[in-house]
Amino acid sequence: MGGRLIDGKALAEELRETFKTRVEALAARGHRPGLAVILAGEDPASQVYVRNKVGACEAVGIFSLKIDYPADVPQETLLAKIAELNADPAIHGILVQLPLPTHINEETVLETISPEKDVDGFHAVNIGALTQGNPRFIPCTPYGVMKMLEANQVSLAGKEAVVIGRSNIAGKPMALLLLNASATVTVCHSKTRDLAAHARRADILVAAVGKPRFVTADMVKPGAVVIDVGINRLSAEAGGKLCGDVDFEAVKEVASLITPVPGGVGPMTITMLLANTIEAAERRAET
Ligand code: NAP
Repeated sequence: MGGRLIDGKALAEELRETFKTRVEALAARGHRPGLAVILAGEDPASQVYVRNKVGACEAVGIFSLKIDYPADVPQETLLAKIAELNADPAIHGILVQLPLPTHINEETVLETISPEKDVDGFHAVNIGALTQGNPRFIPCTPYGVMKMLEANQVSLAGKEAVVIGRSNIAGKPMALLLLNASATVTVCHSKTRDLAAHARRADILVAAVGKPRFVTADMVKPGAVVIDVGINRLSAEAGGKLCGDVDFEAVKEVASLITPVPGGVGPMTITMLLANTIEAAERRAET
C-alpha cells in the first residue's frame, strides 16, 4: 500500500483562482500588482523559468515586465535598473533570475532590491525577519512547501523535521519555517555524518539536495511525510526526464504523504511568487 500524493499542481491551480479576485480588487482601486523580472544572459533553463513566471502573472492579471540583458551586462547597468524599478509605483515586486553571470556580485544585486519589493524573499532584511519569526516575504519554494503541508493538515508542532540541504533559497529558509512552526528541526548537508540515521528519525523529511533519487526507501521512517524539492534532469541515456531528489517509486511505499516530481513543489514555487507580488501590492495599497 502506497502513501497518498500531495498534488502541488492541483493546489497551485486552486490558489491561483483565488488570486484573480484579489488582483481585480486591487486593480479596481488603481493598484494592479506589477512584477518586474530581470534576466541576464542566455541560460536556457533560466529562460524557461522566466517565461513561466511571466505567463503565470498574466494568467491571474498581474502586470509583468520582462527585462533582458546580454550575459556581459555591466553590474552598474543592473543596479541602475533595479534602482529605477524600486522607485516605479507600477512595480510591486522585483525578481532577478539566478544564477547571474559570474562577473556580477549576486549579493550586491539582491541587496539593491528594496526589501518592500523583494518578492523572492532573498534580501537580508527579509531573511532577518524570517529568522526572527516575523516574516515579511518568505522565499517562494519553502513557502510553497508550508502551504502544501497546511493544505494536507500535516501538524508540525513537536514533530521531528529533517531538511537535507542548506542553500539560501531552499534548505535554510525551509528549516526556519519549520522551526517557526514549532517542529524540532535537523538540517543535514554534505558534511553531515550518518545522514541516513538523521533522515530515519524524520516525521517530515524535506529533500533539497539536487541529486537524483538521493533519498532511498531505507532512509525513510514508515509513515513519514516526504517533500521532494529537487528538480534534476536525467541524462539522455537515462531517458532525459525530470526527476526529484527522492526515489519516488520506492519511497511512496513507505511514506504516508509524498510530493511527486514534476507536479509537486515546482508549481507551488511560482504560485507563491504570485502570492508575494499580490501581498506587496496589497501592502502598498494600504499605505
Ligand atoms: P544547492 O544550492 O546546490 O544546495 C544543495 C544542498 O545540498 C547543499 O546544502 C549541499 O550541502 C547539500 N548536499 C549536496 N550533496 C549532498 C550530499 N551528498 N549529502 C548531503 N547533502 C548534500 O541547491 P538548491 O538551490 O538548494 O537546490 C536543490 C534542489 O532543489 C535542486 O535540484 C534544484 O533544482 C531544486 N530546486 C527546486 C525548486 C522548485 O521550485 N521546486 C526551487 C529551488 C531549487 P553543502 O551546503 O554542504 O554543500
